[in-house]
Amino acid sequence: MYPKYIELIKDKKRLNELIDLADRLWESCELCGRRCRIDRNKKTGPCLDSKDIKVASFAVHNGEEPPISGNKGAGNVFFSGCSLNCEFCQNYPISQLFVGNELSIDEFTEKLIKLQKKGVHNINLVTATHLTPLVFKGIIKAAELGLNIPIIYNSSGYDTLQNYSLLREFVDVFLPDVKYIDDGLAKKYSNIKDYNKINIDLIKAINKDNPENIYEDGMIKKGLVIRHLVLPFEIDNTYKVIDELINIDKDMTLSVMNQYFPAFNRAEKTAEKLDSICYNRILDYIVDNNMENVWIQEE
Ligand code: SF4
Repeated sequence: MYPKYIELIKDKKRLNELIDLADRLWESCELCGRRCRIDRNKKTGPCLDSKDIKVASFAVHNGEEPPISGNKGAGNVFFSGCSLNCEFCQNYPISQLFVGNELSIDEFTEKLIKLQKKGVHNINLVTATHLTPLVFKGIIKAAELGLNIPIIYNSSGYDTLQNYSLLREFVDVFLPDVKYIDDGLAKKYSNIKDYNKINIDLIKAINKDNPENIYEDGMIKKGLVIRHLVLPFEIDNTYKVIDELINIDKDMTLSVMNQYFPAFNRAEKTAEKLDSICYNRILDYIVDNNMENVWIQEE
C-alpha cells in the first residue's frame, strides 16, 4: 500500500513506536556512516549548522527522471547540509555552505502541504539523511493534515541501516547514489570512510524490501532506483559500480547520470567533461551485461 504513511497514521501503536525510534536516532546520531553518536538536541554535527530542519528550497522540479517529474513536476525539498563533503558537489552552496532557512516541524509540515497544493506528483526529499527523524515527524503531521502523495528519498547512499530502519516505514521510492566502490576514492573525493560497505548494505536492504518497482501511468509509486553520476576523471569507477550492481541483482533499476560539471573545489578544472562517446560506451557495457532497467540521459 502506498503512500506508506497513509496506513501508518491509522496504526497508533506502530506510529508511537516509530516516534520513539526517531527520538533515539536523534539523541545518539548514527544516521550516516560518520556515526558521530552525538545528541542532536544538544550539538550540531559536521553535516549541518542547525539543530532544526533546514531547507534551501521547496520547488516544483521538472528536471528529474520522467517517472519522477512526470508532466506536473516533482515536489523537491532541497535540505541544507550533507554528511558528505564531495569536492565536486554540484549543489555546494546548499550542501557545504549550509544556505537555507531553519524550520520548526510545524513550519516544515505547512510547506509540504503547500507543495502538494501545487499539483506535484510526489514529495522528493533531496539529501535528508542527516535529518530523517525530524523529516519523519513532519511527514506524519502533514499526513494528518491531508498529505497523500508518495515520498521519494534521494540520498548519497551513505545512510546506515539504523537510519533505514526508520526510512523503510515511510519512504515509498528510494533514490540512493552508488558513488564509488573503492573506499579510497570515497575518502579522496568525499572525505568519508567505509562508504562501500555502508552503501552496499543499504542497497541490498532496500532491494530486499522492494524486489520490483511499481509504476502507475508511467509514474513510479514504489521501489528502488539507483543513481550513479559518471565522473569523467574516474571512468573505471563507473564500470566497477556497474559490475557490483549486476552482481547484487541485475534487475535493479539504474539511472546513469552524465551531467557532471566541475564545481566547488574542482571549479577550476574546466576541461572536465564527460564526452558522449564515453557515455555511450558505458551504456553499451550495461546492455551487453543484460542489465535492462536503465534510465539514461539525453545529451
Ligand atoms: S548525520 Fe552523520 S555527520 Fe551528521 S551528526 Fe549524524 S552521524 Fe554525524
